[in-house]
Amino acid sequence: MARVLVVEDDQFVRSALIRHLTDASHTVRSVGTALEALREVAHVGFDVVILDLGLPDLDGSEALKMLRGITDVPVIIATARDDEAEIVRLLNDGADDYLTKPFSVEHLSARMAAVLRRSRASGAGAEPPSRVMRVGGLSIDPLRRQAELDGAALDLTRREFDLLAFLAERPGVVVARKELLAEVWQQSYGDDQTIDVHLSWLRRKLGETAAKPRYLHTLRGVGVKLEPPR
Ligand code: CA
Repeated sequence: MARVLVVEDDQFVRSALIRHLTDASHTVRSVGTALEALREVAHVGFDVVILDLGLPDLDGSEALKMLRGITDVPVIIATARDDEAEIVRLLNDGADDYLTKPFSVEHLSARMAAVLRRSRASGAGAEPPSRVMRVGGLSIDPLRRQAELDGAALDLTRREFDLLAFLAERPGVVVARKELLAEVWQQSYGDDQTIDVHLSWLRRKLGETAAKPRYLHTLRGVGVKLEPPR
């Protein structure tokens, strides 16, 4: 049971979504423009936002950035374009997941459940380790959700932080992609691309590349590990 904001300008899609979500006992509000969505999230607490990318007033990525400027609420992007580059960019801009239209009710439910599980796990209910973890020049404070590299604060997204913290809890240990999906994304299925995207951005923020790794080491076909540079 979640509070859902549906941002969709297509009246037909919107009604279908509202009907389905209401049937599934969610509380639904819906708007047809990005600006209305911003107004809603500023005044009402939601558990998840389903954001259509083709809105009449703002470009989808603009809308997402503005949303992210005011709230951490999980956002599932709904797009008619199966444009990999754009989806990757939106995930990096703070989208939590995406759906390609047309999507089934089952698919939406599965994605929503996963996103809600993740956000609840990282919220009040979960007990993060309280100690500050150090790996080489990296320090990661799970309680304050802050990370530093050589004394300089890292500007990480929520997912990048979770990924880094998970790896920092087991330095030098190769973690399989499947385990990352299960533990960081709390998903039992999914594509490697999601992990690769977040890894590559995390890498960039750590000032390294896959070709010249310092902290983050990918072992092809096996997994990834975090360890201090030699
Ligand atoms: Ca639309």
